[in-house]
Order: sequence, then C-alpha cells, then structure tokens
Amino acid sequence: MPTPTSTSPTAAPSAPLPAFAATAAKLRDTVLASSQAFDIVRSLSDEAGHRLAGSPGNRAAVAWALRMLPQYGLQNVRAEKAMAPHWERGPASAAITAPHPHSLAVLALGGSVATPKGGIEAEVIEAASVEAIGKLDKAAVKGKIVYVSTVTERAKDGSGYGKAAGARVQSASAAAKLGAVAVVIRSIGTDNNRLPHTGGMRYEDGVPKIPAAALSIPDAELLGRLLRTGKPVRLRLELAAKTHGEVEAPNVVGEVVGRSAPDEVILLGAHIDSWDVGTGAIDDGAGCATIIEAARQILKLPERPRRTVRIVLFNNEENGLGGARAYAKTHENELGKHIVALESDFGAGRVWSARYLGAPASRKLFLSITELLGPLGVEVPEIDARGGADLIPLRPAGVPIVDLLPDGTTYFDYHHTDNDTLDKINKDELDQAAAAFATFAYAAAEMAGDFGRVPDDKRAFR
Ligand SMILES: [Zn+2]
Repeated sequence: MPTPTSTSPTAAPSAPLPAFAATAAKLRDTVLASSQAFDIVRSLSDEAGHRLAGSPGNRAAVAWALRMLPQYGLQNVRAEKAMAPHWERGPASAAITAPHPHSLAVLALGGSVATPKGGIEAEVIEAASVEAIGKLDKAAVKGKIVYVSTVTERAKDGSGYGKAAGARVQSASAAAKLGAVAVVIRSIGTDNNRLPHTGGMRYEDGVPKIPAAALSIPDAELLGRLLRTGKPVRLRLELAAKTHGEVEAPNVVGEVVGRSAPDEVILLGAHIDSWDVGTGAIDDGAGCATIIEAARQILKLPERPRRTVRIVLFNNEENGLGGARAYAKTHENELGKHIVALESDFGAGRVWSARYLGAPASRKLFLSITELLGPLGVEVPEIDARGGADLIPLRPAGVPIVDLLPDGTTYFDYHHTDNDTLDKINKDELDQAAAAFATFAYAAAEMAGDFGRVPDDKRAFR
C-alpha cells in the first residue's frame, strides 16, 4: 500500500492523518480493485436509454433506481416528488438555400418553440456572441435568422463551456428583441463531428419566442465561410418541437445510514435525467454510477461510518433543475446538518483535482482528508469549489461544497449529442473516480469536526 503523501502544491503543513485513515485507504484500494461502476452505468444507459423529464426513458430510469439501489444494499431508498416541464423535440431540418444549397445537421435547443409548418426561410446574419447580437442594428436583423458563431474552447476543467454556454441559453431572446425570426448557433462543443449539441435555452418574459437550434460544428463553419464571401446567404429551418405542461419527475434517494450521527448528511449527487439524444451514458449516467458505487462499497465495510452518506439522483437537471429545487425545499430543515455536498456531473474521466468551499478555518481538515486521494493522483489547488448545477439551491443555506473534478478534456466532444454513449467511457477512469468519491465520502462521514458553513459572500453561484 502506498503511503499517502502531501499532494498540495500550496502545502500548508497538514495535520497528522486521522485514526480512520487506514480504513479509508483500504476502501480506496478495494474500490479500484472491485468497482462495479461500469456495470452500473451500462445497466442504466442500456435499459433506460435517454431520459429527459416527462419521457418514457425518464420513468424507466426512476423505476430502475428504485429497483436497483436496494439490490446494491442502499437503505431508505425512495422517490421524492419533484415537478418538471415536459418538452418534446420532434423532427428538425435545416438547409442553406443560397448561394449554394447544403443540407445541415441540426437539433432544436431544449425548450425551443416550433417553426410554422413548412419552416422558416430567411437571410442569415452572423454575430460572434450574445453581446455582439446586442450591438447589431435593428434594421439589419429584422426578418432575418441570426447565426451565433461562439467557439467553445477545449479545457481540462470545463472552463471553455462556462464561457460559451450563454450563447445557447440567451441568443434567442437577444435576437428576438431586434426582430429576428429564428436563431441558429454553432454547437457548444469541442468536436468536429456532424452531430449537433442540444442543451437548455431560456426565453425572457415579454420577448417574442423565436425558434432556436444548434448546427453541428462543421456545418456552422460552412455557414460562416459562405457568409464571409459577402453574398447573401439564405437558410431554411423547420422544427416541430412541442411544449406540454408540467409532469412529475421525482428524485431518487438512497442512504448509508450513519451509525451514531445519522442526521448529519454527506450528500453525493448526480442527475438521473439526460438530454433526449444518445443514451446519456456520460451525462450523467457516469455520475450516477460513480456515487452509487461509492455508497455500495462503503456499505461493505465492517461498520458503517458515523454520519449518513446520502446519494441523491436528481431529476430534471437538464431542463429546469426542478429536482434540485424540490430537494432543497423538502429537506429545508435539515440543510444545517448537511456537512458537505459533492456532485458528479462532468463525465467519466479520472479525478485530478479536489476543491473546497466551506468555512476557511476548516480548510485544514479538508486538506488532511484529501491526503487520502494522493495515491489516486489528485491535486489540491487553492481554488474554490464550484459545485454542480443541482447544488445551486443548497447554496443559500451555506452547505459546504467539495468538487472532485474529473478530467473534462474530451467531455464536450460528446456532451448533449447522439454520441453520448457507453463506449466513450473508460472503465479504469470511471473506477478511479468511484474510488475518489468513496474515499472522500467515507472520510467526511467519519471525521471529527466539520467544514462549518460557506461564508456569506461566497454563497452565490458564479
Ligand atoms: Zn449533466
């Protein structure tokens, strides 16, 4: 067994390893040797398939979790009510009609309205970003389709996505304010496949709702080249999306009940819904498998940890966060006893970085337990944890957040596309992530002391 060594480049002299460290180290190595995480994500993604809230796949996934979690040994397994919007994409088509005809690979953005039957045909005007749309002349935009050409940079920590995603979320209303009839965006992704990336968008109140779609990156680049010739470029877009009312899309919760402080909770989150393309293996079947496997392995220890490890499979992360909001509301009175929350929603890569957001005075405690992750190759930079989207509703209560960040270098090649399938997952990398989550969760559930609360000025999600 390798001796845990300091991995912090910032390297305050760490506290001595706590008494439970030997058990935690053994757990870590046991997960690496015997993880079933890959089999769990195979089962979920093969059996339920894609699973947007309101779809048959979403109901199948909830049923899967209610059936499988008890089989994995989890306690108190239950569905908790949550509501979600129900949107169906229907067929989509797009083509450049002038100056040279090309059919384009396109997907509606999630939540988009339909075009009229037969589609919309109009001249195209380009903007490099949401801000650039705002600077266009109203007369130049009126009656046109706006093409938003924001490029997503590849980054191990996913920061390129954070900078680009606004183009997907906000472009439709920004363009509609100037009289545009539709928007198409360059997919928010880092690949060069002819597969568009869908994802959520939002309409501003009081602004006309216009259809919004994503083009595959090669198709978007073709459109951009034709626009740069200076000749008028025309596009035809047809979307048949439908918005229904709200539907029930429950969260599924399961626990390793703490042996002596069961009301103190270590929350491990992931989301059980997915976009309605691919099979949601990476986003977020892998995250579900990571936390389920972590809990399954903790349950096999000779004794359960002091505190409760609660896994929450949030519903409706992708198109509304209805599950996350329902969890925060349902458990409002317990949030003061949520010791820390972690979310696995950034693919199936190897965990390389551990980040902390809690009381500054407890950072030393965090550093001492991340020593246990050293043999997994995890760095501990002095960067605040950001948390996943499902943890946003917990932030006002100051629940401490820890990120165990997977390597996301290739995540946005597949994210929200038909290419998000099981074959993209490397079993060894997923097993390492499960080992990291199990080790940290166990240590946090067993440690003396806690991480306090997030300071007020750091509770907002940025
Ligand atoms: Zn996700």
